[in-house]
Amino acid sequence: MEKIKNFAWNILFPKFCANCGAEGTYLCPDCLSLIEIFERQYCPFCFSSRAVADGKTCRHCHRTKKLNGLFCATSYDNFIVKKIICQLKYEPFVRELARPLSSLIITHLAFLKKQSFFENCLLIPIPLHIKKHKFRGFNQAEEIAKKLSSALKIPINDKALIKIKKTPAQTELNNKKRRENIKNVFLCKQPETIKNRRIILVDDVFTTGSTMEEVAITLKKSGAREVWGIAVARSRLN
Ligand SMILES: [Zn+2]
Ligand SMILES: [Zn+2]
Repeated sequence: MEKIKNFAWNILFPKFCANCGAEGTYLCPDCLSLIEIFERQYCPFCFSSRAVADGKTCRHCHRTKKLNGLFCATSYDNFIVKKIICQLKYEPFVRELARPLSSLIITHLAFLKKQSFFENCLLIPIPLHIKKHKFRGFNQAEEIAKKLSSALKIPINDKALIKIKKTPAQTELNNKKRRENIKNVFLCKQPETIKNRRIILVDDVFTTGSTMEEVAITLKKSGAREVWGIAVARSRLN
């Protein structure tokens, strides 16, 4: 029965590789093999490998931040990764692409062998402003977080945090401007749900970290014990 259902589903909604167009999956094995998945965890702020252990100050850049650390699957420099993320985020908004992107994260986490780390965590997607959410029809970070939640069996809360101010796109701004741009734009609406917990933020791309850092400040003020980030891809500031 399940096979027939899948067969019918694939005829009605055929899947195509987001990069080469091959039929059958959203990311075919050939294209997947061209994506290098990080096997280690890097400092979110200086890229020094393994420099940050369990929320301690990075031994390389010595920066103390509210964000405890980051899990990032791959590089945004990879053209296939970039292409898939753009198709998810920009028109015509291929929502299903959250699935292959979350698979990249799951592969990265499997390399790290940190399953127990995620016990009793709470996933929170980086929210969009309500107007942007309505325009796109969905929040790409939330779509990725939902897939992670079901694959890793971690609860998700997409109501605890909201974005209260509309901000211009971060892509146009330098590091300092990004920080100013994002200051005080998030609000924790359900402090009781995050109190004393290890929170894992989910986003598609991590660049300077100013967004996740700002959310970490907001959530820690509201009582979160630890705030970590998960992102599909790491991008350099141009
Ligand atoms: Zn392909
Ligand atoms: Zn560092």
